[in-house]
Amino acid sequence: MIDACSQDSKRLLTLQEALDNIKTNISAITDTEILPLQNALGRVLAADVYSPINLPFDRNAAMDGYAYASADNNPEQAFTLTRVGTSWAGKPFTGQLQSGECIRIFTGAVVPPEADSVLMQEHATAVGENIQFPADAKPLQNIREAGEDIKQGELLCKAGKKLSTFDIGLLAAVGVSEVIVLRPVNIAYFSTGDELTALGQPLESGKIYDSNRYTLNGLLTDPAYRASDLGVIADDPQQLETQFTQAAKNHDVIISTGGASVGDADYVKDILARCGSVNFWKLAIKPGKPLAYGTIGNCHFFGLPGNPVAVVVTFQQLVTPALRKLSGADDLKKLRLQATATCPLKKAPGRQEFLRGIFSQTDDGEIVVTSAGRQGSHILSSMSRSNCFIVLPAACSGIQAGDKVVVEPFDLFL
Ligand code: AMP
Ligand code: MG
Repeated sequence: MIDACSQDSKRLLTLQEALDNIKTNISAITDTEILPLQNALGRVLAADVYSPINLPFDRNAAMDGYAYASADNNPEQAFTLTRVGTSWAGKPFTGQLQSGECIRIFTGAVVPPEADSVLMQEHATAVGENIQFPADAKPLQNIREAGEDIKQGELLCKAGKKLSTFDIGLLAAVGVSEVIVLRPVNIAYFSTGDELTALGQPLESGKIYDSNRYTLNGLLTDPAYRASDLGVIADDPQQLETQFTQAAKNHDVIISTGGASVGDADYVKDILARCGSVNFWKLAIKPGKPLAYGTIGNCHFFGLPGNPVAVVVTFQQLVTPALRKLSGADDLKKLRLQATATCPLKKAPGRQEFLRGIFSQTDDGEIVVTSAGRQGSHILSSMSRSNCFIVLPAACSGIQAGDKVVVEPFDLFL
């Protein structure tokens, strides 16, 4: 544990140190609930899920055509088999196939046990019930074996898996109708600041609209989180302390923005120390230096900076991994790509920096990135234009056009 009081005032904590501190301090939620499969998207599995059936359930046809036994093949010349029935998807052929016979079959329909091949209908010539097969009809074709995708009893998804659309489809395919998941993480978030004005109100001089809560609302939109918007709290130590203490009673996490710095109206860190404990305060990153992390009882507290871009950086770099761990979801490594900078980027050595960038891929596949514009931590227009952070290491003293840099895409689509 890094005590804020003993944290060397000159040496700021690196992002990695902060992350390590947070992660050792957090253990995953253990309360579970049972959900119908259709409500489980994005939720975290609390138990391994095994397949109750083989998938495919039956041996079935991969093509529309004719099912037959390849023992009837004649490699020398075309041969004719008698069609004795049909196997439809959902309505299998119930007879028994004899030598010299075939059945009409459609994709997904059960292949009778006597058959081991399906000839594509495009390769067959039907004259009444006589079906002509070509000499080069290959044996053992176009059959999907029972269990070739998944065997009964096979592990499908492990505990800790955050269920994706594709997981939901997989579980539905084997008939799993309910899943045991971890309960969502309960998160309270609010803004602090006397200058904050609600949307819909006219703006007086000296005031600003409270944008952070809207950004946070978006960042917290995830089925594994249950986020409560607690509004705006004034720069008033008494009100802040009441809010912190109250919110800590019934939430796993509190996220505040603003008031975490060193100004006379920045009370967050001191109040956190009063009603709980501060693990660390101030990081060697830009933007996002003033960040207080600690606990109030069992509740984790993140006092994010007020500047809107610092909110995004600290949320993505620290709060997201913390929430993911709390939610019980497997750890994820963030995608980082190497890109060629197409413009110079200013930077002073000292802190790790997160610049707003726009990356794209050239026709020959190279990933290139340019600055999204002005980089002040209050500049929201470049945040809105950007699709990645350009991550510059602490020691970097600037980038020339043509240099390689690391980018962290916001999502995978351009
Ligand atoms: P603070 O950390 O409280 O000193 O705030 C730093 C800067 O962020 C100031 O310019 C604040 O006005 C601004 N700020 C604080 N909270 C918000 C918010 N909720 N929405 C937009 N800007 C904010
Ligand atoms: Mg403030």
